[in-house]
Amino acid sequence: MPELPEVTTTVNGLNKVLKGLSIKDVWSDYYVSTASKRTDNIKNEKYFGTFKKEIVGEKFQEAERRGKNILIHLTNGKTILVHMKMTGHLLYGNYEWNGKSWSSNDKLLSDPFNKFVHLIFSLSDGRHLAFSDMRKFAKVVLFETSARGSTVHLENIGPEPLDNLSLETFTNQLETIPKGKIKTVLMDQSVIAGIGNIYSDEILWEANINPEREVKSLMKSEIKNMWKAMIMILESSIKMGGDSMSDYRNVYGEKGNFQNAHKVYRRTKEKCLKKGCSGIITRKIIAGRSSHYCSVHQQ
Ligand SMILES: [Zn+2]
Repeated sequence: MPELPEVTTTVNGLNKVLKGLSIKDVWSDYYVSTASKRTDNIKNEKYFGTFKKEIVGEKFQEAERRGKNILIHLTNGKTILVHMKMTGHLLYGNYEWNGKSWSSNDKLLSDPFNKFVHLIFSLSDGRHLAFSDMRKFAKVVLFETSARGSTVHLENIGPEPLDNLSLETFTNQLETIPKGKIKTVLMDQSVIAGIGNIYSDEILWEANINPEREVKSLMKSEIKNMWKAMIMILESSIKMGGDSMSDYRNVYGEKGNFQNAHKVYRRTKEKCLKKGCSGIITRKIIAGRSSHYCSVHQQ
């Protein structure tokens, strides 16, 4: 699932390609192909009809990120929220409708992971903003920009780790779940925004902390190491264009590079890369999520 660095990469790309453009049309087959009972997103046919009416003819203003959500603000005071969930990602380029589906002749856009177009915006420059989502778990909704502080879609999201998050706030946030296992607590969006499976594993490896440790057992120095590791790792992944070990691609259809910098995530049975450590990376399911760690230096 795209996490903070991937969502940031997409948002930075959207701000480059959508500047000054408006929406000519919008198409989706989510409501045809997805048996969703929810009526508050575009997987519902009636909702999609209203969505379309509200956004066609409108101009893009700016995109931003909140947690793992992409917020695309329009000049009519509406905001399109996209949560990419497992496999969603937005792509910009030339697409054609072949009577059955949307496709592109662009080599990058026709990458197998980019072919699952279930939502597409026709743009005023003749190009498209397509949303590829193989597993169809994504969420797309529209709300009044002025209601962003109260919308249910953005509630209970904790502080942003790269918005000058102090060590004190970080510590206080973790301590809201004293008996939680640190891996699970780091991934809890109400504690800290934007961290998921990949970055929690990498942060704990860097900070020498076992993922099953309870928050209340952590020493001040360990929390500080985690805080530093979190900022360093998230920033370095953004510089690398995010992580494309799975489906993630940027708006041009290109892969990021952070998967080549993993120290622990999906390195099961490989040698630990920590200097002086002789451990082997282990994989264990913790609270339903696979966790990768070194049992020798992560205590
Ligand atoms: Zn190790």
